[in-house]
Amino acid sequence: MIDFLQQLNDVQRQAVQTTEGPVMVLAGAGSGKTRVITYRIAYLIGEENVAPHQILALTFTNKAANEMRQRVDELLHSGSSRGLWIGTFHSIFARLLRNYIHLIGYDGNFSIYDSDDSKSLIRQVMKELNIPVDAVPVNTVQGIISKAKNSFILPDQFHAQASDYNGQKAAQIYEVYVRKLRENNALDFDDLLIKPLELFQAQPAVLEQLQHYFRYILIDEYQDTNKAQYLVAKSLAAKHRNIFVVGDDAQSIYSWRGADITNILNFQDDYPEASVFKLVENYRSTQTILQAANGVIKRNRRQIEKELVSRQSSGEPLTLLESFNEKREAEKVGEYIRTWKLTKGFDYKDFAVFYRTNAQSRVLEDIFRMDRIPYRIFGSVSFYKRKEIKDAVAYLRFIRNDQDTESLLRIINFPPRKIGEVSIGKLRDYALTNNSSLYEAILKAEEADFPARLRNALQGFIAVIEQLKDIAKEGSVYDVLSALYESTGITSLLQAENTPESMARYENLQELLSMARDFSDHNEGTNGLNDFLNGISLATDYEEVQEDDNYVSLMTVHAAKGLEFPVVFITGLEERLFPLNYYESDELEEERRLFYVAVTRAQQKVFLSWAKSRYYYGQPQTCMKSMFIDEVDSSILITESGKKQSNGSVSEKKQSIERCNGRTPVPSSVSKSGGNSSSDERSSGLKSGTRVHHAMFGPGIVLSVQGTGERQKAKIKFRNVGEKTLMVQYANLTFE
Ligand code: ATP
Ligand code: MG
Repeated sequence: MIDFLQQLNDVQRQAVQTTEGPVMVLAGAGSGKTRVITYRIAYLIGEENVAPHQILALTFTNKAANEMRQRVDELLHSGSSRGLWIGTFHSIFARLLRNYIHLIGYDGNFSIYDSDDSKSLIRQVMKELNIPVDAVPVNTVQGIISKAKNSFILPDQFHAQASDYNGQKAAQIYEVYVRKLRENNALDFDDLLIKPLELFQAQPAVLEQLQHYFRYILIDEYQDTNKAQYLVAKSLAAKHRNIFVVGDDAQSIYSWRGADITNILNFQDDYPEASVFKLVENYRSTQTILQAANGVIKRNRRQIEKELVSRQSSGEPLTLLESFNEKREAEKVGEYIRTWKLTKGFDYKDFAVFYRTNAQSRVLEDIFRMDRIPYRIFGSVSFYKRKEIKDAVAYLRFIRNDQDTESLLRIINFPPRKIGEVSIGKLRDYALTNNSSLYEAILKAEEADFPARLRNALQGFIAVIEQLKDIAKEGSVYDVLSALYESTGITSLLQAENTPESMARYENLQELLSMARDFSDHNEGTNGLNDFLNGISLATDYEEVQEDDNYVSLMTVHAAKGLEFPVVFITGLEERLFPLNYYESDELEEERRLFYVAVTRAQQKVFLSWAKSRYYYGQPQTCMKSMFIDEVDSSILITESGKKQSNGSVSEKKQSIERCNGRTPVPSSVSKSGGNSSSDERSSGLKSGTRVHHAMFGPGIVLSVQGTGERQKAKIKFRNVGEKTLMVQYANLTFE
């Protein structure tokens, strides 16, 4: 027997050695599913003499694929993995399509359009069809098209189904978009998954050839595959039926991106002869960490019961960190990292800090930079390098210094003002001949011989800039930035797009506003904008990773899937943040699975952290502790001073949830007496975080409450229609 098999337990070994026929490993976190895939590949090559090119292994990230390949080489000998087909669905199918796509009318040298490329093509199509971008946001169109493609709905079918305005416009765009892609010999990301199916249908002989070629197919994280991925895998496996999938329904966290949990739940329907293995030993985490994770996930109704026992000692309890605001939270995390490094022998690389939304990285980054803690952000770039932040900062820079042509070029046509490359070229020429800066040229545009349309567009731009300059003279950085968002519409545009990506960008801009507010509150004085920008320039220059490979990992929980770290901090555990806004129990259950993923990344220690106040939309807001903290068994959760955590609040939460489901009306005749705002809030029962329901707008969440008595207004974020400010008295709201 090949000796590396000894590094597996009995069930793992059986899963590795059951090489023929369909196999599913359905097991909890840290039970060695990924390890089994790796060893199985090594076993097929090393023991069964399967040629590496006959094996197709599909992973969730490129990083996972590289690690797997490396490990196979270690288990056998270097170079053994050569020829192996291993990678993400997208990368593997791009490779396959290069060989075969000529059979369905493309050239093998097709370009791959990333999301930005495909957006600019959509924009171009809209222009040709005379559909104004303000009528239907480009991202919305992109989302609609992508969804249609992934559901295999062709343009003409889509046309027949489209009912509302957006749908009809999208249908028109979809048709031309698809044609243009083909004319450009280009595939977008969705095509990489869908074209193989088209190919298989049009050319059964090719499918047969590939079915023959790939004798063994292995898929990691199967719970997060979407329909197209599922169908491609199924088609390819149809001949040999050697399909090996591993996954955990409790870790399905991508339904918002089209992942379909039924793929794993129905595996046995597709393959009735399948062998199913359940791994019950967890090698990653201490007993205590597992107890915490299992206790929480048990509360989900939709859950396959799984046993999971730790192979480790009981380990330390979880520690609860309570801070008065998010800055203090970040400082505390930094302090623990430094102390644990000094006193407990950990290194920077042993720590991971998780957060629910990308925007939360900003405060952590600022504090870590100040404290000289090396860090790296996974799955995204650092806050100040994000596009929307660079755009907003370019405006601020330009307001301070209108000779800054770099910044000007970044913002002149952002958001789109129909000032294209050609016009900018003309302006540059004009500036050159008049020996002036580009902005001076713009200011003089009235006199120049430019088309009226361009002159109008430039006037609009000048008005925005000059107004902001005026505000900057007297006002704070916060004032400037909020006026900037208002007059350019950059935040409302993102909000209107309402896709996961645009909302993440929206939150980043709001985070910048919060930062400006915090800065303005603490730095009175005239030089505000300069100091604020200096801080940002220094932050942008900061070399995130100072020591090679020894850094703290910062990432969203989504990006942490499949990874493991000795010490894990889960930050921002507050209602409405983690769990993030949810409207249905299914969404809450996905948040809970996400929390389960977060906890089960830890090998030795988990810190659960929340802040009592946090800036949202530029205002400090009072926060409520996350229900997930209360759901952790209180006997294994201690406070910083080492005391047991008492969990009295579970029943309170339960009550409030019950009340929410009962839909009590929000009192409309609120106290008219004066007094502080909190007593008024109490009288209508509305405060930030309250879930409400409006007859027309549907479900929403109160962001803030203003004013008293009859004049009380509530700013509410509605799920379907975005933010609205309503007079409470007339709104006829009910509690959700
Ligand atoms: P996740 O669900 O989080 O993706 P997983 O089930 O894929 O987890 P792995 O990452 O494969 O789990 O394994 C978790 C850890 O346990 C890894 O460090 C792995 O090397 C180790 N491990 C798994 N099985 C064994 C074993 N039989 N002996 C020793 N260590 C093991
Ligand atoms: Mg894994």
